[in-house]
Amino acid sequence: MEAIIKVENLHKYFHSLHVLKGINLEVSKGEIVSVIGPSGSGKSTLLRCLNHLEVADKGSISFEGQFIAKADASGKAVYKNNREVLAICSNLGMVFQNFNLFPHMSVLENIIEAPIMVKGKAKAEAVRKAEELLDKVGLLEKKDAYPNQLSGGQKQRVAIARALAMEPEIMLFDEPTSALDPELIGEVLQVIKKLADEKMTMIIVTHEMNFAREISDRIIFMDDGQVVVDGSPDAIFVNPDHPRIKTFLNKVL
Ligand code: ADP
Ligand code: MG
Repeated sequence: MEAIIKVENLHKYFHSLHVLKGINLEVSKGEIVSVIGPSGSGKSTLLRCLNHLEVADKGSISFEGQFIAKADASGKAVYKNNREVLAICSNLGMVFQNFNLFPHMSVLENIIEAPIMVKGKAKAEAVRKAEELLDKVGLLEKKDAYPNQLSGGQKQRVAIARALAMEPEIMLFDEPTSALDPELIGEVLQVIKKLADEKMTMIIVTHEMNFAREISDRIIFMDDGQVVVDGSPDAIFVNPDHPRIKTFLNKVL
């Protein structure tokens, strides 16, 4: 089966800092891949390169065979024009650690903004879809609330609904529960679990090891800008034969 996401030999520098050092990654449709690894290993940068919040220096990135960036003969990442890149990346939804809701907009307004402004949806249709998604994340009664009236867990569930409103084929989560009080983590993980049950293709950067183990088809362990292990949850958690994973798991579990 053709990969829905394919990354080849991806390199990213921030000035002289070499942050991604030749990442290769394939994700199939419906697959759930968790990315774990120490802080500073390049997990966020990888997600941000996928949805073009960062520009890669070397390598190729494609979705269903459509390249946003393709390596030239020297390996340099050559990007398509911005309009084409945006069109391809509109198939990706992103959820951030810090929610990134628009503070001056109600929950409903947060969700209908992009479908109307970017996709040109009619307002009535955007509202109907937003209400359906709010129901799904269990927050329909909060549709007229403002972000500062919500708990962190509720904000993150709104952020997930907002990403889904763009009808993405792929969802990227960057530590979606790291900013939450422990008692609020479960409600967010439950929503992600629901998406998993619906076979949404997802890449999830997380420190929730039990959740990653339970939900993932595959787990990628990153360290120092490289994919050190790409394997089944059992290969990572039951028989971690790589010393760097053992060290990492001893710290976080
Ligand atoms: P992780 O998400 O695994 O914690 P990041 O991808 O955020 O790691 O960061 C990888 C490295 O890149 C870190 O050393 C970080 O300080 C650096 N970095 C991330 N973003 C930037 C940036 N915009 N400018 C300069 N350095 C950055
Ligand atoms: Mg990060």
